[in-house]
Amino acid sequence: EGRMTSDIQIARQARKKPILEVAEGLGLSGEDILPYGHDKAKISHAAVTRVGQQPSGHLILVTAISPTPAGEGKTTTTVGLGDALNRIGKRATICIREASLGPNFGMKGGAAGGGRAQIVPMEEMNLHFTGDFHAITSAHNLLAAMIDNHIYWGNQLGIDTRRISWRRVMDMNDRALRDMVVGLGGSTNGFPRQTGFDITVASEVMAILCLSRDLGDLQDRLGRIVIGYDMERRPVTAADLQADGAMTVLLKDALQPNLVQTLENNPALVHGGPFANIAHGCNSVIATRTALAMSDYVVTEAGFGADLGAEKFLDIKCRLAGLTPSAVVLVATIRALKMNGGVAKADLAQEDAASVRRGCANLGRHIENLRAFGLPVVVALNHFDADQESELSEVSRFCAMQGVKMIVARHWAEGGAGATDLAREVVNLVERGETGFQTLYGDEIPLWDKIETICRRIYRASGVEPAPGVQAQLEAWERAGHGHMPVCIAKTQYSFSTDPARLGAPEDHVVPVREVRLNAGAGFVVAICGDIMTMPGLPRTPAAENIGLDGKGQVEGLF
Ligand code: ADP
Ligand code: MG
Repeated sequence: EGRMTSDIQIARQARKKPILEVAEGLGLSGEDILPYGHDKAKISHAAVTRVGQQPSGHLILVTAISPTPAGEGKTTTTVGLGDALNRIGKRATICIREASLGPNFGMKGGAAGGGRAQIVPMEEMNLHFTGDFHAITSAHNLLAAMIDNHIYWGNQLGIDTRRISWRRVMDMNDRALRDMVVGLGGSTNGFPRQTGFDITVASEVMAILCLSRDLGDLQDRLGRIVIGYDMERRPVTAADLQADGAMTVLLKDALQPNLVQTLENNPALVHGGPFANIAHGCNSVIATRTALAMSDYVVTEAGFGADLGAEKFLDIKCRLAGLTPSAVVLVATIRALKMNGGVAKADLAQEDAASVRRGCANLGRHIENLRAFGLPVVVALNHFDADQESELSEVSRFCAMQGVKMIVARHWAEGGAGATDLAREVVNLVERGETGFQTLYGDEIPLWDKIETICRRIYRASGVEPAPGVQAQLEAWERAGHGHMPVCIAKTQYSFSTDPARLGAPEDHVVPVREVRLNAGAGFVVAICGDIMTMPGLPRTPAAENIGLDGKGQVEGLF
């Protein structure tokens, strides 16, 4: 019984295949994989190169309406749809992000899906996995160490220690590290300066790893990282510090995608995990391209709601990697629709079809936005036990009016068998071939216009207000040759506006652009709209207090 059993209990009962068998199902041999134990492997650089990265399969994006804090089941639906496509005879591979350690010990659930739609081994995927995040942490901090060391030994590049933007990272929620002074303790310890830590998933190295096509591209991008400015306000790069080679060495294994499996033994590539706010929030380009070369269908997820996740997936990842998605699955839940319809969190369990109807305004706007990218959409209603018929039929009626199919998906309770209707509709949309994918804006328009385009067309803002200095900064980057980059907007995921309390489909709102940051290595400009935390804290009662090993040495309390 799905609901009586926790995610970790279900995952533990999985009948996993040896990872070599999963690889063979993709046409890979034992030579092509680097096993990490019995149930995880990396796909070697040689195999990635050989399979050609010639995308031949269809790319399906799973995104969601504006969520509740609990998450609406994008990962769970991605896994369930992948299993369902395999059930109806399509060769489907799932591509999702790796998990950050920080949230595990805080309060978010796992990153491997849920119920009968999960990726295994889930404990390992949620903990150290194949060490990719540790490698990213090391590469990031090597650059930080080389900056302070360069200054210590005479600062030949003339780095302005007040204008160093490269911080340090750690994969942990630890608010005490947000702001600090380093180099205290006398002349042998360097020059004191103010800096701090971000969480590893917020590192530009993470975004770079996820957007690189191969090792050469990885090194080029690392070299382009701007760490700060010199006394003449000229940018100083990682290549100026000659750090790019050693950083690439630390990352060479991590760049190989990780192969694992679902509870139903279907292949999943779990690789990379950039933040969805100050970065683009989806798995690596290498994993997606490799999967597309080995499968008929690749099902992938983008973080947050469609206003953020799908927009960045399409305008940043697909643009930079030359990917063309074939269809979009928009996940909705009754609880998120109710919340968008004005119901308080404490009352979400009560039957309330009228609020569901009001909340459909949010769903409708996401549908419109996705269509503006030229993509066909199906709404997957992720079914919860508490859902009422009256509520489901409101959504179904609304979707019919929009000319979009709504399919009730029960993969959480039933695994792939609960999502075969969804899989058939996805195949249907793809085979009809009515896609004319286009990004929202062209590379050539000014950076400020890109920000305005997203705010007005996706968020439906009536105005966009730059803080003093923002426009001059963007123009300076354009003169320095960065004007062709896409922009990555960091704002709350709970509302189309920058106010997390304005749910539904708000219209008359103004987006303040507080700050802009250049990620020259990753290849995008970040616009910060609202309060964005790059080093989270733990809650009053962290999940860590209940995590431990049981008598058999198994992990307890993780999820
Ligand atoms: P997202 O990727 O959108 O953040 P997840 O797929 O990770 O969401 O799901 C968030 C949490 O909700 C997980 O703990 C998952 O087990 C749970 N969940 C998802 N779908 C259902 C469902 N239909 N019924 C009950 N719990 C669900
Ligand atoms: Mg997810």
